[in-house]
Amino acid sequence: MTTFAFENRIWEQDETLSREQLSKLQLERLKQTLEQVANVPFYKKVLAENKLSPDSIKSLDDLRRIPFTNKEDLRQHYPLGFMAVPREQISRIHGSSGTTGKPTFVAYTVGDRERWANLCARFLVAGGLRSNHLVHIAFGFGLFTGGFGLHFGVEKVGAGILPAAAGNTPRQIMLLQDLAAEVLICTPSYSLQIAEVARAQGIDPAQLPLKFGHFGGEPWTEDMRLEIERELGIMAFNNYGLSEVIGPGVSGECVARCGMHIQEDHFIVECINPDTLEPVQQGEQGELVFTSLTKEAMPVLRYRTRDIATLDYSPCPCGRTGVRMSRVVGRTDDMLIIRGVNVFPSQVEEALLRVEGTAPHYLIEVDRPGTLDEVKVHVEIRPQDFSDKMSQMQALRDRIDREIHSVTGIRMKVELVEPQSLERSFGKAQRVIDHRNDK
Ligand SMILES: [Zn+2]
Repeated sequence: MTTFAFENRIWEQDETLSREQLSKLQLERLKQTLEQVANVPFYKKVLAENKLSPDSIKSLDDLRRIPFTNKEDLRQHYPLGFMAVPREQISRIHGSSGTTGKPTFVAYTVGDRERWANLCARFLVAGGLRSNHLVHIAFGFGLFTGGFGLHFGVEKVGAGILPAAAGNTPRQIMLLQDLAAEVLICTPSYSLQIAEVARAQGIDPAQLPLKFGHFGGEPWTEDMRLEIERELGIMAFNNYGLSEVIGPGVSGECVARCGMHIQEDHFIVECINPDTLEPVQQGEQGELVFTSLTKEAMPVLRYRTRDIATLDYSPCPCGRTGVRMSRVVGRTDDMLIIRGVNVFPSQVEEALLRVEGTAPHYLIEVDRPGTLDEVKVHVEIRPQDFSDKMSQMQALRDRIDREIHSVTGIRMKVELVEPQSLERSFGKAQRVIDHRNDK
């Protein structure tokens, strides 16, 4: 009998379907989805060109006959060209910000919202949430799917909600102290920002009443989890989702915390080599691709997430049968190619967290002044470790330099900067400036 830090409670029996039951359900729902996407001109054309119809899908292997969908396809059909239902059936619209200026919009019917809240409830309950808890949500409530997605998930579980929203960190700390929420929901980097501001106010963040947190919305590392758990004195759970697929609720960790269970009765996942587009070997890193199976307003077929992770099909002690995905180790578009070597910002973060005395705030600057790429990493030091002694700072810099080299395999120029000097963000932290793109 495995014992967990929390009681292992399963929200819905559908989370424990056998592989056989799951495949049967996926096939049935894939056929329904093909029928549904025929209402979208883009997909109607794709299906016709590839001679695909619900009846032509005989097994799940036929999924591979369907072409991929990517972000650019959604962009080209701005604002809502991927809708599969009439406009009057829209119950909610969300959007993700893009680097190109205009957001990518996604839409939900009443049924979609109901299923979405349920998917969030599944992972929240898997990670310890019960109806007697109070949940402090420090995600932005707006177009971003994180705030409202988790809000309705928590409500579904029947727990209390404090919709604190993002920003004004001193006020967040006051709310955490005075209202004593047990659960924190935000981005992992923002949870550390809360801890840091609390410390600066003379409050030990580990003394806040928080017991655990559900973090997502940006890639993070296992070392960062340890840092959050140590700083805030909580257990930290990871969850994953993206608005194009539904928002949070695509997958989340259970009490075993050995990967995030993908909700396979609602999404088919594939893990592909982003260059060859062929499936990778089991357990190998690849880009995740999702096909929605129950969405009405905006179903997607084989959507390329650009998120790099691994899949684990081995049984989980919690009893859930959904395949587990690893943390997102990086994004195909965040991946920096430095002198021919693939480097993810998360690797630099991993290196920094190994060095005592650095804060997890950093900025990677890439340039190519001549023919060779040069990388400079600006690293903030913690106030208590900031020293006027040149020799101590030099030793710290050398340690960081060695760790970065050992994790990434390349040499980067390390520049130590004063505590609090790098810009903070309330949502996704900006970690990279690539000047090579300016030229
Ligand atoms: Zn599990």
